[in-house]
Amino acid sequence: MRNNHSTQLIFELSTTGRTGVQLPACDVPQQEIEQLIPAALLQSEAPDLPEVTEPEVVRHFTNLSTLNMSVDTHYYPLGSCTMKYNPKRNERIAAWDGFAQLHPYQSDESVQGMLQLLWKLQQMLGEISGLPAVSLQPAAGAHGELAALMVAAAYFHQQGETRSKVLAPDSAHGTNPASARMAGFDFVTIRSQADGRVDLEHLKENLGDDTAVFMITNPSTLGLFDDQVQLIADLVHEAGGLIYLDGANMNAILGISRPGDFGADMMHFNPHKTFSGPHGGGGPGAGPICMTETLRPFLPNPTVTFCDETQTYYLDHGTQESIGRVRSFFGNVGVLIRAYCYIRTHGPEGLRRVSETAVLNANYLLSQVKGFLGVPHGDRCMHEFVASAVSVKESTGLKQPAMQIAKRLLDYGFHPPTVYFPLTVPEGMMMEPTETESKQTLDAFAETLQTILQEPIETLNNAPHSTHIRRPDEVMAARQPIVKWTETAD
Ligand SMILES: *Cc1c(COP(=O)(O)O)cnc(C)c1O
Repeated sequence: MRNNHSTQLIFELSTTGRTGVQLPACDVPQQEIEQLIPAALLQSEAPDLPEVTEPEVVRHFTNLSTLNMSVDTHYYPLGSCTMKYNPKRNERIAAWDGFAQLHPYQSDESVQGMLQLLWKLQQMLGEISGLPAVSLQPAAGAHGELAALMVAAAYFHQQGETRSKVLAPDSAHGTNPASARMAGFDFVTIRSQADGRVDLEHLKENLGDDTAVFMITNPSTLGLFDDQVQLIADLVHEAGGLIYLDGANMNAILGISRPGDFGADMMHFNPHKTFSGPHGGGGPGAGPICMTETLRPFLPNPTVTFCDETQTYYLDHGTQESIGRVRSFFGNVGVLIRAYCYIRTHGPEGLRRVSETAVLNANYLLSQVKGFLGVPHGDRCMHEFVASAVSVKESTGLKQPAMQIAKRLLDYGFHPPTVYFPLTVPEGMMMEPTETESKQTLDAFAETLQTILQEPIETLNNAPHSTHIRRPDEVMAARQPIVKWTETAD
């Protein structure tokens, strides 16, 4: 797989005098650059640009694009992330000039089509969630959590109440406690029971007149729907608190159950997960938030509004109570356009089928995997499940079997599942097949896992054997990335 084009910088491919373009002969009078641009603004030396041919450029970047795994090139069962296939038509539509060439400073009158799309998306998300007051501004799920908790703070402030605590179960995503702290709350972890559901006794012990919000991910990160959720909502509401639904797992319940109907007061969507926006490598995403009518006045402003009288769309800069802007302009509009296309393409019945198929696929994979890996939380799941490689630790003495198996999967051309999350499952391997994969792919993945478990320990310990970069120090790779490939880095 290795060749010069994929391991050299484009500057190293440069040869003086080479060019990728042929400019036509100049047909206007020529002038020296000094006559056109003030001398103080001119550089004394020409910029150091690579001089390469067009095929060199194409091969270089095409090869670079294959060094990592992607949904377009590999199966990607990364639990909690919903790495489903992104239909290319959504990409084409988002790139239409009519969308891509708009300027955010244009007047409302001149961007009616864009505003109409965003308004309809607000309506659709309000309908899917059962929570009609929507803001599209937040730029990611975590940002939606933060914005919604700021709304909760503003709401309690207006009610003349001081409520300092945000609660969430121990299986929650790390963004929940982080958002709570950033919004100025103290964070309290609520235990889960052995079956993965919230420990109601522990919740009751911690509820009081200082409870602001209980954050719950349902279906949870264990891939289970907590059927106590309505009871939990009643308990929290009786204590005067609000329910926040972390909507990262909406892929399992679209058109089947609505958070607004099972007690949530607010939630976020991750369009880049549920509605197929391409993601990975850190973005871009979006994190629309949906709320009850009671909380609408506190939403970030502006929101997109429709005026019945004039039949026009406009940006409503909102009320005194609004927490204000949380993102420049309208939010990550490109991602929102893709979400709109995805929802409109499927329609209500289609969205329900998406969830039914996602759940069916996950249960099929679960049935295959539990033959050789433990699945601590049961025989059935929603759209994902968490296997445990603890038995492998016992039988082989491997220190971190989930990590070793994950690394070895790369050699077989599979992206690994999410490992060591949620923290409540030792040697956890969280698998989310998504609805876009075939039975053949799921079978091939399960068979590969089984093959890996029969391999010699040394093979696992030193994996991956076939990738360009093998085992980087993960902390250093994030903090001080060395992006240049060298022989010694191998
Ligand atoms: C992905 C995820 C988040 C955070 O969403 P981002 O869009 O990545 O910020 C929060 N909670 C859960 C359960 C998630 O899976």
